Formats: sequence, structure tokens, C-alpha cells
Amino acid sequence: MVKDDMIDEMNSLKQKIYLCKRCNLWKTRTNPVVGEGSLTTNIMFIGEAPGYNEDQQGKPFVGRAGKIFDELLNSIGLKRKDIYITNILKCRPPDNANPSPEQIKACSPYLDEQIKIIQPKIIVTLGNFALSYIFDKFRLKQEKISSIHGRVFTLANLVGIEKIVAMYHPAVAAYNPSMKAILIKDFKTIGDYL
Ligand code: URA
Ligand code: SF4
Repeated sequence: MVKDDMIDEMNSLKQKIYLCKRCNLWKTRTNPVVGEGSLTTNIMFIGEAPGYNEDQQGKPFVGRAGKIFDELLNSIGLKRKDIYITNILKCRPPDNANPSPEQIKACSPYLDEQIKIIQPKIIVTLGNFALSYIFDKFRLKQEKISSIHGRVFTLANLVGIEKIVAMYHPAVAAYNPSMKAILIKDFKTIGDYL
């Protein structure tokens, strides 16, 4: 897809998401959070759902988890403009509740479209919900994040996406230096692939 078409397609997707009422979360959202970054990037990150700050600003990972995410990106020489980042759910679950299976089912077609538009070479999942959705979508065996974090899964016979890497959610590092060390190490793995 040429860049202008990507921009057009992402804009029309954005409009659909802004009008979306496919699950109950439209009632309580302030702003949907579509995603942000480069459309021509090789690398796409997928988190869970917007939190308070993201819902207020309509932007992904701008709160506490976002600060950690930025540090991790910077540690491998990347900036937000070099990557694309979005979430499984585009609207905030009240009280930061876990996404429900119904909400994921309703919202995931938007993520599928984003993957189709961007066609990243590497998808990095952040946290359990993104891991579970993406591993299922690409028919990879579901395993616990504690045993596969930072491992690079290569997809055979697929045009487009070639590598999937599961990471812990950056929020887990907020009060836990040892988790942060693990995330830094795992990010280094993707740095080596770029
Ligand atoms: N946590 C997420 O999973 N996504 C965000 O956008 C912010 C926090
Ligand atoms: Fe629509 Fe997704 Fe928001 Fe639910 S979370 S209202 S499916 S955009």
C-alpha cells in the first residue's frame, strides 16, 4: 500500500472508531484511543486498553505506563515516531477493569485492520491480553508470558508480519525494578532485530 492510501485508510478507520458503539464502553469513554505513530514502520506494539490519561487525551500510553514505555523505546534508540502503538481495546474500561471477551470480540476487527494497513514486520505484544489475542490470531501456541517473554516467534509462509514477540506490560515495572530489568533485556532483543 502506498503511503497516501495508508493515511486515507487509517483516517476512515479513525472515523469509524469515533462513532463506534459496538460494545458498552462507548458510553463511558471520553475519547477513543485509536493508536499513534508511523504508518510505514516495521514495528507495531499492542497494549491492553486506554487508562485514565489516555482516555482524557485520546492518545496511547501517555500515563505512567507510557513513561516507562518511552524509556524502554529510548533504550534501543527508538522514538514514538519510529513505531506504531495501539491497544486491543480502543475505549477505556471504567476503573481500568480487564477487557471482557465480548469487548475484545467487538473491538478486535479494528486492530486487525490496523495490522493490515501497516503490515509490520514485527509485532510486540505488551501484557497478557495482547499476547493471548495475537498468538491466537496467528495460530501460535498459547503459553504463559513468564515462559515466553522476549522470545522471537517467526511465522512461516506469511507475507507481511514475520516476527511476534511477547513482552510484559510496562505497567508491571512501575514499582518493580527487577521487572524493569527484564523488560529492558527483552527490548534489547527487538533492538537486535531492527
Ligand atoms: N496501558 C495500556 O495497555 N495502554 C495504554 O494506552 C495505556 C496504558
Ligand atoms: Fe467500539 Fe472498541 Fe470502543 Fe467498544 S472499545 S465502543 S468496540 S471502539
